Amino acid sequence: MGIVGGGPGGLAAADMLRRFGYQVTVYDRHDRMGGLLIYGIPGFKLDKDVVERRTRLLAEGGVTLRTGVEVGRGVTLAELRARHDAVLIATGVYKARGLGVPGDTLPGVHAALDYLIASNKVSLGDSVPAYDDGTLNAAGKDVVVIGGGDTAMDCVRTAIRQGAKSVKCLYRRDRANMPGSQREVHHAEEEGVQFEWMAAPLSIAGGAKVDGVKAVRMHLGVADPSGRQTPVAIEGSDFAIPADMVIKALGFDPEDQQALFGAPDLEVTRWGTLKVDNRTAMTSVDGVFAAGDIVRGASLVVWAIRDGRDAAAGIDAYLKAKATRAAE
Ligand SMILES: Cc1cc2nc3c(=O)[nH]c(=O)nc-3n(C[C@H](O)[C@H](O)[C@H](O)COP(=O)(O)OP(=O)(O)OC[C@H]3O[C@@H](n4cnc5c(N)ncnc54)[C@H](O)[C@@H]3O)c2cc1C
Repeated sequence: MGIVGGGPGGLAAADMLRRFGYQVTVYDRHDRMGGLLIYGIPGFKLDKDVVERRTRLLAEGGVTLRTGVEVGRGVTLAELRARHDAVLIATGVYKARGLGVPGDTLPGVHAALDYLIASNKVSLGDSVPAYDDGTLNAAGKDVVVIGGGDTAMDCVRTAIRQGAKSVKCLYRRDRANMPGSQREVHHAEEEGVQFEWMAAPLSIAGGAKVDGVKAVRMHLGVADPSGRQTPVAIEGSDFAIPADMVIKALGFDPEDQQALFGAPDLEVTRWGTLKVDNRTAMTSVDGVFAAGDIVRGASLVVWAIRDGRDAAAGIDAYLKAKATRAAE
């Protein structure tokens, strides 16, 4: 069995499949297993020892863990299919949504995951040059985080812990309509984060590097087909926020799976996630299964684990049926 992606989905499947008695290899492009458990979610929310212990137990139980292997770039899906009787794709979703405003790429403007990965690596004892030289370190800076999900909350709370001078969170809807958890907002406020509700960026200001965010106040207009009110800019309400670090936390989409895996027959949904048979977790390609965020879109750890276990059951049934057919 080959599993692509060592996040909670892939590792939960590996655990089950090993218990069923299969030889399992997990491939991950990072230098550690754990996916967003190790490099996304900050240490103050999730104790990394727990993740590293789970990984160690898997290795001791006979699961082969191969880090630094990027499927689609280093090794192809076709090679993995030739090497293994079945393959599970549990690669998560990582294409960060852009701001789409002028100044988006100025030095000092960072993607949320770049910032969180650097912070997590430092906490794990790694040397991170972009943190040491101050690029990805919020200490002493006026930080603006743009977005209203849990990733944005992790960024603001990390910036506070790094000793930022001020931390502001800009979100275009109101508190009641934000996607992130209210508990996280409460914690962030207690820690000193200031929220600018109903505000959206118009541009990122600066020359050689960022020095501020130009924003506009919003109001909630008519509901879209999903029933959610659309934020609309209030004319003439522009305002400026000083900033020497801006973090973009606007959510994640799947990368182009067919291009990444060189498999045009790998069917995707209209959101770009992998299409699977809900009963078996198998994709449109025979013997290739999928689980976790790459099937659901950005979701939760519990769902990735559940999907990984369900996929393991689907893979077990597939391999048993294949063995029975071969014996006939
Ligand atoms: C900042 C942040 C905070 C979050 N906080 C919470 C939280 O508090 N609670 C909660 O329940 N959920 C949280 N989530 C969501 C949760 O982390 C995800 O839903 C969950 O990790 C998805 O698991 P997964 O196994 O599908 O994918 P991931 O955890 O994303 O793991 C996928 C793995 O696949 C690897 N990979 C990707 N492409 C390739 C490739 N081509 N070749 C080899 N390896 C590859 C990646 O390196 C990664 O290790 C958070 C997400 C983020 C971004």
